[in-house]
Amino acid sequence: MQRRTFISGAAGAAAAAAATLSTRTAWAKPEYKWKMVTTWPKNFPGLGTGANNLAKLIGEMSGGRIQVKVYGAQELVPAFEVFDAVSRGTAEMGHGAAYYWKGKSEAAQFFSTVPFGLTAQEMNGWMYYGGGLELWTELYADFGLVPAPAGNTGVQMGGWFNKEINSVADLQGLKMRIPGLGGEVLKRAGGTPVNLPGGELFTSLQSGAIDATEWVGPYNDLAFGLYKAAKYYYYPGWHEPGTTLEAIINKEVFDGLPGDLQSIVTNACKVVNQDMLAEYTARNPAALKTLLNEHHVDLRKFPDDVLAKLHELSDQVVAEIAEKDAFSQKTYASYQKFLNQAKEWSGISELTYLQARDQS
Ligand code: CA
Repeated sequence: MQRRTFISGAAGAAAAAAATLSTRTAWAKPEYKWKMVTTWPKNFPGLGTGANNLAKLIGEMSGGRIQVKVYGAQELVPAFEVFDAVSRGTAEMGHGAAYYWKGKSEAAQFFSTVPFGLTAQEMNGWMYYGGGLELWTELYADFGLVPAPAGNTGVQMGGWFNKEINSVADLQGLKMRIPGLGGEVLKRAGGTPVNLPGGELFTSLQSGAIDATEWVGPYNDLAFGLYKAAKYYYYPGWHEPGTTLEAIINKEVFDGLPGDLQSIVTNACKVVNQDMLAEYTARNPAALKTLLNEHHVDLRKFPDDVLAKLHELSDQVVAEIAEKDAFSQKTYASYQKFLNQAKEWSGISELTYLQARDQS
């Protein structure tokens, strides 16, 4: 008798819960239906799935009041039109990387990564507490956009090579897929930078059309099968020491949101920014093990004199961005000041600790 009462009580509670849930579901009819365009192939590991996570999180945190549908590159607009599409309101939101938009402003590159620049951890410090995000917000406001850090790959790998790099002379004539500032540095070192979309890397490397390519890190590189097309896997990724991915939101759309939803969108970006780095931090070491143990990849470190030369050229290339316009000058000054301080601190904290940890 008691047991039956208990069951019917439980059933009653469940029914009440279901009623509450359905009430809640009814209340949570989407108030905003957004499109998110991305520079990544749909569901691309790490980067594309990071964009998916961001959309899911905004939906969950807002109780369904904002519903975000994610579009891969080419589905709604081509990869490199994401910025313009969100700027003019074709899509409410986008996910990509700021260095793709250097045609809009050279300064944009500082908000993704620059060669021999800040690590992921330091980038987050500059962004949230060192004035970086304020500068970025100021720059993008001119284009009707609100930016937010929304993912980080951590330090990338130097890339896949079919030529050994034993000295600076080996960079002469090296035909390598390496976009952006890294490409400019390679050019000054005597190489030939090539820009190719991710989908063409494997065949270009395999056919010998290029001697080398960089991509991301072990997790993404393994997925692309690049080890089948190149002999050597070089490190470190001097050209992308901690690439910040970006979320962009149409400014009119963002400004029109109630305060709680603005906070939800901003903080969902913050969660994804940290979460993507955590994912890469977990998956890269495991993928590297697979590359080494199952695919017998020949892992090489760039020689010190090669890194020193690339560093010297990088400092020139990055400093030249500052000469382009007043805003780039201001951003360079802020970034450089933070970098100098971070270098000193990271040298006595992370670096010394990691060196000590490795000694045993
Ligand atoms: Ca890369």
